[in-house]
Amino acid sequence: MADTYDYDLFVIGAGSGGVRASRVAAAHGARVAVAEEYRVGGTCVIRGCVPKKLLVYGSHFAEELQDARHYGWSVSGMEFDWPHLRDTVLRDVDRLEGAYKTTLSNNKVDSFLERAEITGPHAVRLASGKTVTAGTILVATGAWPVMPAFEGNEHCITSNEVFHLETLPRRVVIAGAGYIAMEFAGIFNALGCHVTVVNRSDTVLRGYDETLRDRLLQITMARGIEYKFNRKLQQVTREADGSLLVHTEGLDPLAADIVLVATGRRPKIDGLGLEAAGVTIGDRGEIVVDAENRTNVPSIYAVGDVTDRVQLTPVAIREGQAFADRVFGRMDVPHVDYHCIPSAVFSQPPLAAVGYTEGQARNQFGDVKVYTSDFRPMKNVFAERAERGLYKLVVDAGTDKILGIHMIGPDAPEILQAAAIAVRAGLTKADFDATVALHPSMAEELVLMR
Ligand code: NDP
Repeated sequence: MADTYDYDLFVIGAGSGGVRASRVAAAHGARVAVAEEYRVGGTCVIRGCVPKKLLVYGSHFAEELQDARHYGWSVSGMEFDWPHLRDTVLRDVDRLEGAYKTTLSNNKVDSFLERAEITGPHAVRLASGKTVTAGTILVATGAWPVMPAFEGNEHCITSNEVFHLETLPRRVVIAGAGYIAMEFAGIFNALGCHVTVVNRSDTVLRGYDETLRDRLLQITMARGIEYKFNRKLQQVTREADGSLLVHTEGLDPLAADIVLVATGRRPKIDGLGLEAAGVTIGDRGEIVVDAENRTNVPSIYAVGDVTDRVQLTPVAIREGQAFADRVFGRMDVPHVDYHCIPSAVFSQPPLAAVGYTEGQARNQFGDVKVYTSDFRPMKNVFAERAERGLYKLVVDAGTDKILGIHMIGPDAPEILQAAAIAVRAGLTKADFDATVALHPSMAEELVLMR
């Protein structure tokens, strides 16, 4: 293989999955190149998880500062400077991109900062015109925000642009009520913007446990977020003063300074040359792969969001690692396990979950027991905040195994990661009961539910 092609592995897309596969394959001795048309790091690092989490932290100070007086602090002259937060976050993104580039070069991976298109089972053509050959090609191009077709959608932004806003908008309309919508609704609301969430259904965060979603809805409505359900955006017009008017069926137009469309993300396959190479594409535009991430073309693999299985960074990383270990490390690695993947929504308050929801468990196992703890976190009581946390354990009545954990409340994602180990390991409710509580904490609720 070494002599036949320019590289052993050519990776298209330097995001989480692509970078992991590149550096691990190189560490196994493969000659690796990666092409990236935008910035090294991909969605998560450049315009997703990382800058979003920093904005969540930044906006959360509003609550902390408000509550501070209960703890004896007098905070005067509170002011928020959006350009400062934006630019600091973007600088951190630059720093991380630099770290990713260093990782690639330290591992002797050649980087082509340009677009690549597949021209055959072992060949890619770079935007500069150069053709490169490789024994194996890995597609790790991720996903791209969907912009539904409606008049005036050119006035709207997606999560790609939201990190670069020149000024903090006064009025924000968000289309969709999934991950991105609920996270940015929380950020903008905390920063003092008026937020309206418009969704096509009457649901937020489809797929999460119903009781938690209701709790999030109650809390966020009390915080001032408005919801318009069962509505789709029909038209967005720009007014003479630069503001926007959002038209939806049956409602008076909503005035907005920005309209953020967050209605899902689709695999990014346009212009990749996949059809010409004979790679099978599924109904959702995803690259169809087997359990080892191989497409129907034996020399072409794909990992991460472009396969549209689970659109989460740690899953792409696992797939990239397993691919490189199997194909270039010649290791007998187990298939990536998609069961029991913990997830979180960094809404305010955040929500986190692992395993079966109550509804799913009832359908699958029939007899389930549900334990809940509906509590007011100590720090909320002290700060005279009415907001309550809610934890829920879903247990198989026959085996006593924990089938799912669902949580909403401060720091829920931090707590859930550790609890997810127990669910994956098949621990029982009796194991939770036998564990001594760590007091005082919110996490102790997990072992005190009776
Ligand atoms: P989601 O799939 O989470 O939510 C999409 C929302 O848009 C839903 O409310 C859905 O309605 C609505 N919708 C879907 N299609 C249309 C349409 N054609 N017209 C109008 N509304 C529509 O998508 P996001 O864009 O928020 O996020 C994309 C993915 O990114 C997520 O699935 C997740 O995997 C990942 N992500 C993960 C994060 C995390 O882990 N914390 C953070 C951000 C993103 P309905 O209510 O009917 O379903």
